[in-house]
Amino acid sequence: MMKIAVIGAGPLGSATARHLAESGAHVTVFGPDEPATFAGHQGTWSGHYDQGRMAVTDPLLVASILGHRAMARYADLAMRSGVTFSRSHPQLMMFPDGATGEGTQEPSSSHAYRMLDAVLEHSRTFGETPEVLDSAQLHARFPDMRFAANQIGALQHDALIVNPRLLVRAELVLAEAAGATRVRELVVGLESTASQVRLTLADGFTASFDKVVVATGAGTNASGLLPARVDTTVYGATIVLLEVDGPDVVQMPAWMYLDSHHGGGLITPPTQYPDRRWYLKCASGQLLSNPLHSAGEISGWVSTGGESSELDYFQEFVARSLPAVQVRGGHTRPCLPSINTTSVPYIDMVDERVGLVVEGERGVMMADEIGRLSARLTLTGEWRDSLDHHEVAVRWAA
Ligand SMILES: Cc1cc2nc3c(=O)[nH]c(=O)nc-3n(C[C@H](O)[C@H](O)[C@H](O)COP(=O)(O)OP(=O)(O)OC[C@H]3O[C@@H](n4cnc5c(N)ncnc54)[C@H](O)[C@@H]3O)c2cc1C
Repeated sequence: MMKIAVIGAGPLGSATARHLAESGAHVTVFGPDEPATFAGHQGTWSGHYDQGRMAVTDPLLVASILGHRAMARYADLAMRSGVTFSRSHPQLMMFPDGATGEGTQEPSSSHAYRMLDAVLEHSRTFGETPEVLDSAQLHARFPDMRFAANQIGALQHDALIVNPRLLVRAELVLAEAAGATRVRELVVGLESTASQVRLTLADGFTASFDKVVVATGAGTNASGLLPARVDTTVYGATIVLLEVDGPDVVQMPAWMYLDSHHGGGLITPPTQYPDRRWYLKCASGQLLSNPLHSAGEISGWVSTGGESSELDYFQEFVARSLPAVQVRGGHTRPCLPSINTTSVPYIDMVDERVGLVVEGERGVMMADEIGRLSARLTLTGEWRDSLDHHEVAVRWAA
């Protein structure tokens, strides 16, 4: 039985661990639980400490393919683990009204057109029936919402809202049921030799494995575990949680809006958080304005808890755009997206014994499929899939 360690117990690591364990490997998953607070935070943080992530057909075909393969297994995952981690909810993605195709002179709207075209085409490829709604149709369909002039919306009915914390729980329940062991420790050293991989833990213990998968998410470069830096940029992002009275205060899709403030963002409909309260979750394009380069920069930024001006912005935006909603208060949370230079996941081997998965933009919706592909690659050393491996090969920073 092959002895394999997975470093990182986030969505990608837990999914990889499950597929490895269910394939018969002897698996150990290393990774700490979510810190209780961000105040004074030291060390690694992650991209998945939240209750709502979108799973939806994407303008990028690779992301759509991997996402749909994963989504097709959600029901089985939930049933076998006993953990319900997703719910159906439509998504509305706004575009400038000029996103009407050829002939436009304006570069941003021709880009918008390609995005809209791609969303519609890929949605139909996966058997979905998206709608494009003009201004009048938007007002009629969503009377609780106020839309800026000159915008149209692509309504994707088949979207899901995934709770990433519960997705991780479901994957780990099944990984453990298949024999995996969980160790709530950080890995601080990785030495790969011809015959084994030796890991050093934060408490000083060492352990050796036949193979290892590095799934350390936003901490991948900061951890220093790899021989070189992966070509991905980590950002210090701010999530704004606005408290509302309950799930029914507004009828709205998950809303990818456009706005002059950092280009727009996403508002997720009322969702319950671990404090049992209900929040609108908001994030603007500001989330890609603060690149972080080292472990020190990451922990320093996480300790701030996020950018308070974003809270002011969203209180004003929600009062204007969802006027029926009474906001009781709000707060910010830090989050760490990371963007690969290819915009799609890295699923690769660093050497014969060390595998790697990195996807910090849409990784929740694709996690179970990234985990399946990485488990197979790690076990067999071979890429066998209809998707060309070139698409998901790791890129190293120059
Ligand atoms: C604001 C925001 C919005 C997003 N929206 C979406 C969305 O709508 N849909 C979607 O699909 N995705 C979304 N994402 C992206 C998604 O959250 C990430 O792709 C996903 O979390 C990546 O999972 P991961 O397991 O690779 O990394 P992470 O979630 O970062 O988890 C990595 C884990 O590894 C652990 N770790 C790190 N270093 C070590 C170490 N040295 N030893 C042991 N453990 C270690 C960490 O503690 C952590 O638990 C969003 C991200 C953000 C920040």
